[in-house]
Amino acid sequence: MIDLHTHSRVSDGTQSPRALVREAACRQLHTIALTDHDTTAGWDDAAHEAGRLGIGLVRGMEISARSADGVSIHLLSYLHDPTDAALADEIARARASRVGRAQRIVDLLAVDVPITYDDVLAQVHDEGTTVGRPHIADALVANGVVRDRGEAFARYLHDGSPYYATHYTVDAVQAVRLVRAAGGVPVFAHPFATRRGRTVPDSLIEEMAAAGLAGVEVHHRDHSPAERAHGLDVARSLGLFVTGSSDYHGSGKPNQLAENTTEPQVLAAIEEQATGVPVVR
Ligand code: AMP
Ligand code: FE
Ligand code: FE
Ligand code: ZN
Repeated sequence: MIDLHTHSRVSDGTQSPRALVREAACRQLHTIALTDHDTTAGWDDAAHEAGRLGIGLVRGMEISARSADGVSIHLLSYLHDPTDAALADEIARARASRVGRAQRIVDLLAVDVPITYDDVLAQVHDEGTTVGRPHIADALVANGVVRDRGEAFARYLHDGSPYYATHYTVDAVQAVRLVRAAGGVPVFAHPFATRRGRTVPDSLIEEMAAAGLAGVEVHHRDHSPAERAHGLDVARSLGLFVTGSSDYHGSGKPNQLAENTTEPQVLAAIEEQATGVPVVR
């Protein structure tokens, strides 16, 4: 089983990168990709553990981007060179902007519920972590305001909430170019998931394909059967490969490892196209 989309606590998963790789090995997965939001800070620990346990590891990342008309999208990057300055600068800018944005959300929340920014920082465990709304959710849980992340998002942290604030994100087509220039393989994460919010028109996927997009993540729990069928059509007509993944976040979300998987030929195609870093085996 190959699962190309997982998160550790270096972004908004709940396990250390090592514990995540250990769990995947215990569950007999053949290969996983570690794809924390806007950071590669978990790569070394995950690679060390994967080498030790003999499970395949695709070092990756999930870049927060937006379309020209402001729709938020996620772009998976596989096997890029983490020292490529243009890409590294872009994600460092995003992480820095997320800190100010989290402080703004906390300021808005603090008017109505007990929370400080230090409470949020207490939920961040590792250097280089991407601070996001899930850490604010964890602080609300620790302070007894809500029971779990789900309730925190439903009551306080969803996109339309009066406590919501945005952060800097890179343009989607530019993100595809940056990933390719860094030797990585770009795959559009959950592109058709209307249940997550606004989605982009197929014309943008066509533009991204012209800029070097390699694949689309079609098999994902946030896609309905009709959205999956449409995704397969889009992939076929644009010559993109198709992935399936869990988007596992530890206990932060109900998603389970390998609940959707990717075909071995697709992993081989990713490996063949990448020139940044190799798959760890
Ligand atoms: P941010 O990147 O800071 O805007 O936060 C978005 C992240 O929050 C996503 O990557 C999801 O993993 C997580 N998230 C969104 N909605 C929920 C939810 N209802 N329960 C748990 N996590 C969520
Ligand atoms: Fe997430
Ligand atoms: Fe995502
Ligand atoms: Zn994800």
